[in-house]
Order: sequence, then structure tokens, then C-alpha cells
Amino acid sequence: MSEPQFTPRVFSGIQPSGGLTLGNYLGAMKRFVTMQNEGTHETIYCMVDLHAITAKRLDPTELRNNTRELCAGFIAAGIDPEKSVLFNQSQVAEHTQLAWIFNCVARMGWMGRMTQWKDKAGKNAENASLGLFAYPALMAADILVYHATHVPVGEDQKQHLELTRDIAAKFNHDYDVDFFPITEPVIGGAATRVMNLQDGTRKMSKSDPSDKTRINLTDSADAIAKKIRKAKTDPDPLPDTVEGLEGRPDARNLVNIYAALADITQQEVLDQHAGALFGHFKVALADVAVDQLAPISTEMARLMDDPAEIDRILGRGAERAREIAAPILDRTYDIVGMLRS
Ligand code: ATP
Ligand code: MG
Repeated sequence: MSEPQFTPRVFSGIQPSGGLTLGNYLGAMKRFVTMQNEGTHETIYCMVDLHAITAKRLDPTELRNNTRELCAGFIAAGIDPEKSVLFNQSQVAEHTQLAWIFNCVARMGWMGRMTQWKDKAGKNAENASLGLFAYPALMAADILVYHATHVPVGEDQKQHLELTRDIAAKFNHDYDVDFFPITEPVIGGAATRVMNLQDGTRKMSKSDPSDKTRINLTDSADAIAKKIRKAKTDPDPLPDTVEGLEGRPDARNLVNIYAALADITQQEVLDQHAGALFGHFKVALADVAVDQLAPISTEMARLMDDPAEIDRILGRGAERAREIAAPILDRTYDIVGMLRS
């Protein structure tokens, strides 16, 4: 079969597993907005609620609230539900239907090598959910059910995107088709890997049990300033070159966050602050962070005052998503040999 022409199409998702963090914003969301506004691709963005229950059971009320708040975060950060398709994963059944096919394409060995599986299952893998193990096959389905050609993500998702490419290639090979695109990762947000404020060797995560480790987009100005003030650092002043940050993960993280928020390079941050002690630098960093994040959190709060409107936006988004996904799933089932009526 000849290579189909794939429409340039972007897909990405965020889990409603907690509140949005600065890492999600700088590593993913900002890029989602630029890709939407460039207008060269169709853009599809998703609240992946089915992924959010893989690591632990969430309180149902909390999950619903997280999903609405995440939708508010997307819109407050600049996603326009008219320009982009903005919806909630569980409202488009085609994701899980394609995921089953991919469960039968992906190999146990591939899944077992995923670092997110190893990190999240930890030492107690026997007791982790089957869903956590199968997560990357559902993620591949999220992407490929739209024939997405580009996926903007933070660096931590690189391995899952490689697996998505492997699944697409194996499906195409096994069924002798050129049906699924080999998706390109787009990793290169403002900061592709924002680290944990209490441990600069681990990434910042919305599901970390400790709130001190992250900045949430809904944090007040005082909370942001306090978390930055208490962030782990070392006693040395800021160096004058980026090489001087070698072996100083906590220091590097704060400089990286400053650069991403102020939209300047790390070297420019050091040109301005070389020789400063972290006590002073943290005050400047808190100012930049509050400047950038306060308008987003204010807009999120405004949108959250009208949950019915959020549900309406997600309902409409799901309809638009299904228009793209349904024929692709149907064709997949046909290729695999499922009877179609
Ligand atoms: P969880 O802890 O539940 O996995 P998370 O904070 O890792 O939550 P995800 O929903 O898994 O968030 O990821 C959403 C997007 O944000 C992905 O594109 C991911 O690569 C990106 N991302 C997550 N954490 C960071 C980070 N610390 N720095 C940069 N990008 C990140
Ligand atoms: Mg994650």
C-alpha cells in the first residue's frame, strides 16, 4: 500500500492527576500555545483522565475537579477551544478501543524497559496496576487515533514517544500497510525538564506527595515566594558562566527556571546575577514567577466559577475529536480483520 499523505497534526495530553505545575507549563503548555498560534498544524489537546487513575485511585470528586481545572488552565494559558480541539480522553471511546489493538502489538519487554514504569511502580511492581504498565500503549493510541504527526512534550516523555513510533512501525509492518504515521516528538519548550524544588536531581511532578517540591499554577503570590525561598540550594554564590553550574543541580534548576520565565538564556541570567547569593537571587526569581503566573491563575479562577461552561466546552471538543478518530479506528479494525457492517 502506498504512503498516505498525513495532515500536519499536533496531539498532546496532560493528566488531571493533580494541579498544573510550572514544569507542565514551561515544558509543555507554552509550546502547545505557540503551535496552535502558528497555524501550520491542526492542534488537538487532551485532558488524559484515563491515565490519571493508573498510579493511584483518585477521589472521584477530586478527579472531576482536576479535569475541569486543567481545562481552565489550558484556556488561561492561551488555548482557544475554537482554534484547537480541546477535550477529555474518557469522552472519546476510540482511544481505549485502539489501545486494545496496541496492547496486542506492543511487547512486554518494551513496556518493562520504560523508566516511568520503573519510577512510578518503584520497588513494589507486583502491586502496581496493570494500567500503569500498559500506560504507554494507551498513550500511543491517544496520539495515533488522530494520525498525529507531531507531539510536543517535556523530556520525560521522550521514551514513550519512541515506543509510540515502535508500535506504529510494528503495526504497519505486521499488517503490511503504511497506515500509521511515525510521529515526531517536539521537545524544546521553554524548559524541557524543570526539576523538583527540594531535589534538583528529580523532575518536578504534579503527583509528588509533597507540595513544597513544585510550583502550582494556582499558587498565590505568597505561596510562590515561600516555595522559592525554601527551595534547596547550595551555599556558593551564582557563577559567571553556565559551566560553573556543573555538579550543582539545585542551582542549575533555579537558573533554568528564571531563564525560561524571563525568556532569556541561562548565560544572560548569570550575566545579570553572577556573584549574588541565592537569598537575593530567589527574591528576583519569585518576582519573575509571580509576574508570569498571576494572570494565568486569576483567569483560571474566573473560569472555574462556571463549571457548566467548562463541561460544555469539553463536550463540544469531544464531538470534534470523535469526527477525526472514528474513521481512523474503523479503518484500523478493518485492517486487523474485525468485521465491519
Ligand atoms: P504526574 O506526576 O502525574 O506524572 P506530571 O507533572 O509528570 O504528572 P504529566 O501529565 O505526566 O505531568 O505530563 C504533562 C506534560 O508535562 C508532558 O508533556 C510532560 O513531558 C510535561 N512535564 C511534566 N513534568 C515536567 C517537568 N518537570 N519539566 C518539563 N516538562 C514536564
Ligand atoms: Mg508525568
